[in-house]
Amino acid sequence: MSGQEKNEVNRSDVREDRVVTNSTGNPINEPFVTQRIGKHGPLLLQDYNLIDSLAHFNRENIPQRNPHAHGSGAFGYFEVTDDITDICGSAMFSKIGKRTKCLTRFSTVGGDKGSADTVRDPRGFATKFYTEEGNLDWVYNNTPVFFIRDPSKFPHFIHTQKRNPQTNLRDADMFWDFLTTPENQVAIHQVMILFSDRGTPANYRSMHGYSGHTYKWSNKKGNWHYVQVHIKTDQGVKNLTIEEATEIAGSNPDYCQQDLFEAIQSGNYPSWTVYIQTMTERDAKNLPFSVFDLTKVWPQGQFPLRRVGKIVLNENPLNFFAQVEQAAFAPSTTVPYQEASADPVLQARLFSYADAHRYRLGPNFHQIPVNCPYASKFFNPAIRDGPMNVNGNFGSEPTYLANDKSYTYIQQDRPIQQHQEVWNGPAIPYHWATSPGDVDFVQARNLYRVLGKQPGQQKNLAHNIGIHVEGACPEIQQRVYDMFARVDKGLSEAIKKVAEAKHATELSSNSKF
Ligand code: NDP
Repeated sequence: MSGQEKNEVNRSDVREDRVVTNSTGNPINEPFVTQRIGKHGPLLLQDYNLIDSLAHFNRENIPQRNPHAHGSGAFGYFEVTDDITDICGSAMFSKIGKRTKCLTRFSTVGGDKGSADTVRDPRGFATKFYTEEGNLDWVYNNTPVFFIRDPSKFPHFIHTQKRNPQTNLRDADMFWDFLTTPENQVAIHQVMILFSDRGTPANYRSMHGYSGHTYKWSNKKGNWHYVQVHIKTDQGVKNLTIEEATEIAGSNPDYCQQDLFEAIQSGNYPSWTVYIQTMTERDAKNLPFSVFDLTKVWPQGQFPLRRVGKIVLNENPLNFFAQVEQAAFAPSTTVPYQEASADPVLQARLFSYADAHRYRLGPNFHQIPVNCPYASKFFNPAIRDGPMNVNGNFGSEPTYLANDKSYTYIQQDRPIQQHQEVWNGPAIPYHWATSPGDVDFVQARNLYRVLGKQPGQQKNLAHNIGIHVEGACPEIQQRVYDMFARVDKGLSEAIKKVAEAKHATELSSNSKF
């Protein structure tokens, strides 16, 4: 964007009354004077305007998200294009053509805030819908599966994608040691996607989003289905090669932020078509894998995509910090007729995402304007007080829900779901992630076949893995080759060749110094 164009960016919120004050609203005579003794003597503690400015500056950063720290966002709408009321009774789907305002935030996962946009990493794809039944967050990724299926692994896994505690560097040993540990090889499917060219999307507009998890949606009669959501880009999938991604990471680390902002600013609004896959409980019992296994997709031949609507992003935030950095997405933020399944990683996220926002933004994070359920209006006078309570705190309403006929509860309008799952068993320390069997490699092999139909994609996969794995020690490299041999022997050999070639090039360039 040129300097001239930047001046034309919409700044509709600019105030007409522009008398500068300190933070308590007292007009400032001259912002750049400091009170001191004489012209060159020490400063005075009574100079509140200076202290106000410096003290606030020290506090202007909030904890970054851990993970998903680095991201971009924009507002838009969801529009229903197809009737799915037989599957879901949520008000946002009630009629074709209905629009619901939304905010989408895209992000990388492992990088710190300020890191490069184009690194190899899954991308977060989170959307907040401001519905009349309260806010709904779809907290998704651009990959249909994930690395783990057991939530106790989560902090361990994320640590391996971040920095070595001693060197403070990214560490290929740590990365591959975790992923090739026998029980962690359930990650193979996701690792294949991550190291395909889809691991470096060209921009946020040209990638899909997936729920990954299984959810449970029900209709107004109380019938329910397992559901997975696919959000497919209308711009077409576009990716970078490893060389392009690396070059851009150095020359323009904010490449995807810039791309999204400028596209929307110029009226080139990105859109996505939303689909669902549905499955009955009976179908789930016949799967060769668990319906709650986040490392598996539902084959589309058996569970076809059904179109629901579209998401269009047509409004840039006016203030990044207020509207994107402070946006709080959590899968526990949901509406009637859309609930979580028993997927254990999703169950853990129900706790940990909202908890992260309580830590990052405070217990009243739902009062920050971007998080306010303004389309439904929050009313629960027992949820009150606490730091940064700025919404009037329910005035003189009682602090408890009394036996008072003026309250309305929606329970009486909703049918009880029939034929619910029945859970039964002792409370045991169950360890799901034991060494993967062949079933955990089947979908990775299917993906390899899908890549085989696209020119150059199998080769790029081997190239991208080989370049990365070269940074690991020989023993871990061998574990990587063995793991990929379970997908395809040719793939394993191709990875090894790339790693050895890179190693040889590095040795010869080092020997020149
Ligand atoms: P299908 O042939 O019915 O579907 C293949 C899927 O792969 C499509 O969703 C396609 O969607 C997607 N795809 C195409 N190219 C790539 C690529 N380079 N990287 C990742 N995904 C790609 O087969 P199945 O449903 O039986 O799935 C076969 C394999 O496809 C799976 O093992 C999985 O790895 C992958 N896949 C499956 C998905 C699913 O929900 N079933 C979703 C995404 C991937 P599109 O080109 O629009 O992305």
